[in-house]
Amino acid sequence: MFFKEIVGQQDIVQKLRNSFTNGRLGHATLLAGKEGHGCLPITLAMSRYIMCRERSEEDACGECPSCKKFDKLVHPDVHFIFPVVNKKGKDPVSDSYLVEWRKFLLATPYATSNDWIREIATENSKGTIYKDESDLINRKLSMKSFEGYHKIMIIWMAEKMNDVTANKILKILEEPPQNTYFFLIAAQPEQLLQTILSRTQIVNIPPIDVAEVANYLSANYQIDSAKATDLAFFAEGDLARSIELFDKVDELQQNIENFNKFIQLSKNEQTVEIWDFINTQLDRGMNSYIEFLSYITHNIRRNIIETVAPSDNKILSDSATSAVKLDINFQQARAIYKLLNDAIYHIERNVYPQLALFDVSLQLKKML
Ligand SMILES: [Zn+2]
Repeated sequence: MFFKEIVGQQDIVQKLRNSFTNGRLGHATLLAGKEGHGCLPITLAMSRYIMCRERSEEDACGECPSCKKFDKLVHPDVHFIFPVVNKKGKDPVSDSYLVEWRKFLLATPYATSNDWIREIATENSKGTIYKDESDLINRKLSMKSFEGYHKIMIIWMAEKMNDVTANKILKILEEPPQNTYFFLIAAQPEQLLQTILSRTQIVNIPPIDVAEVANYLSANYQIDSAKATDLAFFAEGDLARSIELFDKVDELQQNIENFNKFIQLSKNEQTVEIWDFINTQLDRGMNSYIEFLSYITHNIRRNIIETVAPSDNKILSDSATSAVKLDINFQQARAIYKLLNDAIYHIERNVYPQLALFDVSLQLKKML
């Protein structure tokens, strides 16, 4: 991964690159953001840049011995820690899974931790950074660097460290050996111990610009730009999520049509038709109701953006969808949000989904 391959996020990239070239990069950086915002690819590109012997102002060279090792993720001074599962016959540490890890990362740098765990275990397994890992971290960093240059320790999904692991690396995180850089990556940094947070420089990684995600999708997948924009927008700048949604593009289109119909029936108080619509068109199991409600939530947000963020209008007008334009203000939007979220909450707790939807429809009429 090079900086030039990062999707969007050029401000962040520039900031990180400058902090390194100006000698201001802290010895421990925490990249905090959703996986699909690109925290891991940014860290990979940054690590390659730091290790490159012929780097330019812009990027790593791609030709030096260090870059060649990076091409295969086998640089001996770049260490990876990531969640693993406790399997019979394997020590529960990252080193036991390095072969799978390299293959996985080289194929899909924008993949998620769920993708990773699915790769090495069964669907419902939970990945953890086990306590044995802390001894390895300390040992690896106490050794001299193989190439007499920098050393890098990347801890992906750092919030998966159990407390024992976290406590055992506090000292080395605070005072790492010379020329050592820690990069911690966390999607839920609030789950990290305060003592870890306080020892890092936190860099928040925001969502990727919707247009950048859309460009990436239409360049890399068989999808036209209007649909790509829809996916990017619905995924809210989360590249991994937009790829996940890729398989659901028809479902998304169906939701758009259902949304338009639902709003129209609700506005007109066609209660008999609404009840019928809910029980036929929308009925594809409990999850389909929840997905539909989530979709309406998304559309409410979209309507607000169309009203208040003119800079995004271009993107939205490129979109393939023709969702109903709702003339609502913030107060209305807030009330509708609450209504929708309450309905999702109740359905998840076994309220009959058809009734919950019917209630939403009746309430919506009053709010629109
Ligand atoms: Zn190089």
